[in-house]
Amino acid sequence: MKYFIVTYGCQMNVHESEKLAGILENIGYQPCEKREEADIIVFNTCAIREGAEDRVFGNVGNLKKLKKKNKNLIIAVCGCMTQKEDSAQKLLNTFPFVDIVLGTFNMTKLGYFIEAVKKGRQIEILDEGEIDEVLPYKRTSGDNAWVNIMQGCNNFCTYCIVPYVKGREKSRKEENILKEIKEILKEGKYKKITLLGQNVNSYGKDLNPEVSFSKLLKDICALDGDFTLSFMTSHPKDLTDDVIDTIAKEDKIEKYIHLPAQSGNNRILKLMNRKYTREKYLEIINKIRAKIPNCRITSDFIVGFPSETEEEFNDTLSLVEQVKYDSIFAFMFSSRSGTVAEKMDGQIPESEKKRRVNKLLALEKRLQKEANK
Ligand code: SF4
Repeated sequence: MKYFIVTYGCQMNVHESEKLAGILENIGYQPCEKREEADIIVFNTCAIREGAEDRVFGNVGNLKKLKKKNKNLIIAVCGCMTQKEDSAQKLLNTFPFVDIVLGTFNMTKLGYFIEAVKKGRQIEILDEGEIDEVLPYKRTSGDNAWVNIMQGCNNFCTYCIVPYVKGREKSRKEENILKEIKEILKEGKYKKITLLGQNVNSYGKDLNPEVSFSKLLKDICALDGDFTLSFMTSHPKDLTDDVIDTIAKEDKIEKYIHLPAQSGNNRILKLMNRKYTREKYLEIINKIRAKIPNCRITSDFIVGFPSETEEEFNDTLSLVEQVKYDSIFAFMFSSRSGTVAEKMDGQIPESEKKRRVNKLLALEKRLQKEANK
């Protein structure tokens, strides 16, 4: 029996797909190169932008012919998009040939649902779930091993769907993370450990007793082995001095911080509910530069947030110019149903968002060229 997994979205999803692959191999499936050869095709979806959802709908729709040819083919769709009620409904109504639909909280029960599908279509989308601890992984990222340390987010940035589809922050116990990393290092083939979480700087606040992210970093660095440690993603409001000091001191930690600013304008940052100002953000950047010379810094920006004026967009350009990032990721605002920003006045036309994102990317290109010189 063969499986084919299609993954959309972020590194956390790539890692979730490693779990799905581990589960499938545990029950006797083997990977295959083409979806035409598969007995089960799994879509691990993303909901962060409308474009990602459209691609899933297009690709699932394309499987109709394949399903006609092979009645035993199982098609499963899971992840963030199916956790979103309207998208799940659309999927179920439009594609009656999809056999299994799971949300984010139970996708690792895929093996059980493959068994159950003999009885008919299986749909289970839960409102909440525990963080998975003991699972087989099929690691697929070369000499890098992803390690999930937490899931969910409590921040509710007004444009973001993550807290609705991944739930509130849940941290894994530190002892389980350390045990997983020890096992990874014992295998001898991984040179890099990357810790994953929507907001890693909040790690451990929900544990009893609390464990700080800096303690976790120090304890991982104390493990024997020749490896580098990195993490993503940091929220500027939670990046503490303690974490910056730890990155500075520990040789094993990569001197790299991805610090999404999203906007350079204080009114827009407030509307986004980011809970920091441009000044506060710059203060953190200055601290990083002072304590960790040569630290690479990258960022994310959203342009065309509802009601963003040209002057406010110019503040984003000036922040990028001022910080001189090593690179940036620039996105056009994508309205997500169920978020606060969806209902905000002053939605910006697509053509204007495109103009702004191109302008930001052109600036980025110029700055990179200057830095490379
Ligand atoms: S911090 Fe904001 S942008 Fe990041 S996952 Fe949480 S709500 Fe979304």
